Amino acid sequence: MAVTDKRGNDLALSGVNHWFGPTQALDGVSLRIDPGEMVALLGPSGCGKTTLLQIIAGFLQPTEGEVLLDGGRVDHIPANRRRVGMVFQNYALFPHLSVFENVAYGLRARKMPGAAIKAKVAEMLALVKMGHLADRLPSQLSGGQQQRVALARALAIEPGIVLLDEPFSALDKNLRLDMQIEIKGLLKGYGVTSIIVTHDQEEALSMADRIVVMNRGRIEQVGTPDILYDRPATLFVNQFIGHANFLQAALVAPRRVKLEAGIEIDLAEPAPQPVGSAVLVSIRPENIAISGTSAGPTIPVKVRITMPLGAADVIEAVTPNGETVKIHKTRSPASKPIASGTALALSVVDPTGIGIFAAPAGDPASTLHG
Ligand code: ATP
Repeated sequence: MAVTDKRGNDLALSGVNHWFGPTQALDGVSLRIDPGEMVALLGPSGCGKTTLLQIIAGFLQPTEGEVLLDGGRVDHIPANRRRVGMVFQNYALFPHLSVFENVAYGLRARKMPGAAIKAKVAEMLALVKMGHLADRLPSQLSGGQQQRVALARALAIEPGIVLLDEPFSALDKNLRLDMQIEIKGLLKGYGVTSIIVTHDQEEALSMADRIVVMNRGRIEQVGTPDILYDRPATLFVNQFIGHANFLQAALVAPRRVKLEAGIEIDLAEPAPQPVGSAVLVSIRPENIAISGTSAGPTIPVKVRITMPLGAADVIEAVTPNGETVKIHKTRSPASKPIASGTALALSVVDPTGIGIFAAPAGDPASTLHG
């Protein structure tokens, strides 16, 4: 069978820096993405996600550094001469053109013959299940349908890489989840390399093979969702991915911390900081058990508030030294919410799930939440 399997390009960025006048938007970004891989660029507003995407697309030239697609440098090749498909936040469909003509647009621009355009558009619309609405105008479509058309248009030019810039932000929560699953299935099934920009960590965790966490123009960590959640390399990543409690402590031995909340905990592996350092201990809510009868060391806390959040209650409690701890308690039909003021004893379920970070200078609370 004469099938060319390799649809997706591999992408390599090397030492990419970008300045807007005096503002450095990207600082030494290097990254490799494999053919067919789906990668999310995740980070807070202003961290450089859009700038990086525009450099990959060719809308911006990096001030310094290299962009390679399939090993060839493209950083001086304009956007319309790269095999890159774009799906924008607001879909950016042409309002006066039908669904068919929107998808045909890039093919006409590339001077493809009429019959081939017809066949390609039909193939793309069938792929996104929009063939029956080919004659409609974008204004006559729902948000999800418009997004499918935008994806069909991006894929029609047979790109080696598809870039999606916050593609779900205009959709309501339920539809967003459906579309995330659908679009991921389509892109992976099609075999194209894709990069999605998002500031929504759940979206990144649910869609991407690997996530690039960015902060202030730099890459903090690149990894699978599991690695980022279980082994965050930095305090920023630990704080940004999922929820965690950060408790103040001192490292009293290479593998032992003393929490200011009262107890000592043995670590699964030695901490990188010198003994005697002030550290922040990260414990995920699901790694804390309410264990009044546990034989191990327990932290005495008082419940401040219980928030019923569907399958689990989230309990916010206060330690003797005034730190706040969040705990998850799975619901059962018979369970009653724990009342404010209740005294509880908390213990750590699994020490391998604990993160140790150097305590930031100054007020840790302002560093973490500011
Ligand atoms: P958001 O999630 O809010 O879209 P982002 O992570 O995509 O943010 P960028 O848009 O890439 O961030 O911006 C990175 C930095 O570059 C920010 O400090 C921003 O203010 C700055 N910046 C972006 N575009 C320009 C521009 N055209 N001129 C000057 N500064 C810019």
